[in-house]
Amino acid sequence: MDANITKRNELLAQKVIKGLESRNMTAYYAKDKEEALAKALELIPKGSKVTMGGCQSAVEIGLVAAVKGPDYKFIDRHAGDPREALLAGYDADWFLSSANAMTEDGVLVNIDGSSNRVSMIAQGPKHVLFIIGMNKVCDDVDGALKRARNVAAPINSQRFGLNTPCCKTGSCMDCKSPDNICCQVLITRFSKHPGRIHVILVNDNLGF
Ligand code: SF4
Repeated sequence: MDANITKRNELLAQKVIKGLESRNMTAYYAKDKEEALAKALELIPKGSKVTMGGCQSAVEIGLVAAVKGPDYKFIDRHAGDPREALLAGYDADWFLSSANAMTEDGVLVNIDGSSNRVSMIAQGPKHVLFIIGMNKVCDDVDGALKRARNVAAPINSQRFGLNTPCCKTGSCMDCKSPDNICCQVLITRFSKHPGRIHVILVNDNLGF
């Protein structure tokens, strides 16, 4: 990545980390994907039960492949009975997620269709680990909500072939389509549980 972008990201990351820590979350900065993966594996003890929602950022740094390996107990939400997989996920040691967007002062914004992801961020798994590229950082909550619904949602709608207005137009029409992926909007502005939410900010563009 360009040195100027890296420097700008580092300065912004300092501000974001301060914001996250003021909200009782633990934050780290990784200069690249490799450092992000190493930090994540340092945080998650071997033998942990790990699950995830849709988390392209964790895929892109190699974390999903690692936790599916023999050192971890990976709970696959697509395997077996969906209800049992959901309940097993709530009992996981670690839940992997990205954010659809976040603010410079550490507020996390996530939208969800089936809502397993936002519900597990809010409660359930003992720890939540967010992998977030600097491309997700927005000025404020309004900007983060706009990003979630006008950048993340259209891309995800297209990836999954959903019948939503944003899939066709690339911007949010505040729809009530049965396929809509904004059924729940979660704004995480503080963690009540010390040590539960960890965020690795990565000096790269990750996810959507
Ligand atoms: S409300 Fe509908 S149109 Fe708007 S982002 Fe969500 S799915 Fe797309």
